[in-house]
Order: sequence, then structure tokens, then C-alpha cells
Amino acid sequence: MIIVTKPEATEEQVQHIVDRILEWGLKAEVSKGALRTVIGIIGPEDAVRERPIAAIPGVESVTPVLKPYKLVAREFRGGNSSKVKIGNVTVGGGEVVVMSGPCSVESRDQITSIAHEIKKAGATILRGGAFKPRTSPYSFQGLGVEGLRLLAEAREETGLPIITEIMDTKDLEVMEQYADCLQVGARNMQNFALLKEVGRSKLPVMLKRGMSATIKDLLMSAEYILSEGNFNVLLCERGIRTFETYTRNTLDLNAVPVLQAETHLPVIVDPTHGIGLREHILPMALAAVAAGADGIMIEVHNSPELAKSDGEQALLPDEFTDLVERVRKVAQAVGRSL
Ligand code: PEP
Ligand code: MN
Repeated sequence: MIIVTKPEATEEQVQHIVDRILEWGLKAEVSKGALRTVIGIIGPEDAVRERPIAAIPGVESVTPVLKPYKLVAREFRGGNSSKVKIGNVTVGGGEVVVMSGPCSVESRDQITSIAHEIKKAGATILRGGAFKPRTSPYSFQGLGVEGLRLLAEAREETGLPIITEIMDTKDLEVMEQYADCLQVGARNMQNFALLKEVGRSKLPVMLKRGMSATIKDLLMSAEYILSEGNFNVLLCERGIRTFETYTRNTLDLNAVPVLQAETHLPVIVDPTHGIGLREHILPMALAAVAAGADGIMIEVHNSPELAKSDGEQALLPDEFTDLVERVRKVAQAVGRSL
């Protein structure tokens, strides 16, 4: 931690800052400049992280030297990347993983037929929401536990492991009976009770970036999950809110290389929610893989116009087949496989 004092800070104020540091059991390295004094705090930064140092009279700025996240930091794995298993699929091993399925599970016929289609196209993980986080309480809320059962039936028929969203801590037990991977959605990225609960689960977790969350916020939320013992975590960039209204969100592909530099956790990109317009999903999926994503998540529906949620951004199975083909070529071009 490095403290810089204000130019007008008095000798007494500088001494007071030093006294506080010593009081906290740390050492202070004082370096006086012509205008300002720089004070380096020597010792474990954790001991002072929570202290409101900027509130001490005479302090102009406080700069931490260490990152606030530890377990998710790339250094924690000695610079290596983590691999996460979802059923029989490995995410983060160099192969681009494609997750796909409808926004919501709507019926047995719908989920099983889409599961067969996306498998044929090359997807290896089936997605589908049973508990849906809808903006309006009057919108379709999902089939609940029945949706989970239908997902499990589709898994039985196709062999595809399933990822589905958990919205409530009380649902963990039933989720664990059916799901292969838990999704924590954008709206719950900072639901800390839920993060701790899934952190105690044996299931892998895909944590989606909140729509107004910074990359650091996302990493801190992931830290919650790892700090409870669950290291099987994927991060998902799914677009953030900006001033742009043409698209549903702004897919922040900057997050891919930044996250990969900062953390050992695999990074998934969801161009479907990121752009929200079916005709523009393909180029963003290609860009995601070119940028280095470990996987993509794409919503597919066999009849988008009848979908109970997110129909306007769902691809038809044929369009999805074409997308996977093109993604495969980009993956190969950047030294990856699919
Ligand atoms: C979803 O995956 O269908 C979903 C609701 O995503 P998000 O949480 O990113 O909005
Ligand atoms: Mn959706």
C-alpha cells in the first residue's frame, strides 16, 4: 500500500499517518519529496485493506500494491490455467466448448428436439432455464423443477451434460439432483448469499458478469465462490449496459484477454445476450473465439417466434449449425480446436 500525502499536509499530519500504521502492527517507509510525502506500508496488506486510510487528514491517495482477489488470481495457479469438468466435457483445455439450447425449457418435445439438433451441430453442453430471472413478474417464470426433470431427460437421450440457472439458495438441493453445472445469472452476480451457497456445492458454476459490473467486480464475485471451497468456476462475459441502445447490451470482448491475464479460470462468451439480435450473433461468436474465449454460449430455438423468452435472439438449428462450422474454422485459425 502506498500513501501519497497532500502538498499542504503538515509535519504533524505525516507523523499521525505513520503513527497509525505502526499502531496497526506494520512498518512505514517515509520518503519526503519537495511537495508531497510518499509513505510505503510494509507488511501484510490484508491488515490494512479494510482501513479507511483516505480518511486520515493529509492523505491524498492510497494505492494498493496487491490485488484484492487471491484465489482467482492467475498467480494462485503459478501462472497456469484451470480446467473445469462439466460432465464429460473439459472447459479450459484448449478446445473451444460450445454450450447451446433454448433460453427457457418449455416442454419435453421442445427441449429434447433442440438437444438433438444442437448435438448434431457440434455443441457438447445443453443449456436451458428452468428458473427464469425475468424483468417482469408477469412474464413466463420457467417450469421450475419440472423444467429440471425435462433437462435431465434430454441429457439421457443425448448424453449432453446440462447447465441451468440457479436463482435461489433454497433450490440448491434440487439443482444438485439434476444439473451438471450451475449458472449464476447476470442479475445475481452480486447475490453474495447465493455465491456462498454455490461455493459449497460440488457442482461447477458458471458466473455471468452483471450488466453493470466491472471486470474487477466479476472477479471479486468469483472469489466468493472459490473462498467457500469450490474452484470449479467459469466466468462468462454476456454484455454490459452502455449508452448504446441499438443492441440489447454491449458485448465487452476486452474482458476476454483481460480476464485471461488476471485469472486462471476459463472464460466463456455469450454473444446471444451480448448483442441480443439474432442476425448479428454469428460475427460476435467468431470474434469471441478469435479473442481467445474458452467457450461460447448460444441460444437456439426450433421456433423462435413461439419462444416463451428471448425468441428475438434465438438462432434456428440450421443457423446454429452454420455458426458452429464457422467458429470451428476460426478456432483452427487461432491454434485451437472444436
Ligand atoms: C440466460 O442465460 O438466459 C440469462 C438469463 O442470462 P443473463 O443472466 O446473462 O441475462
Ligand atoms: Mn436468455
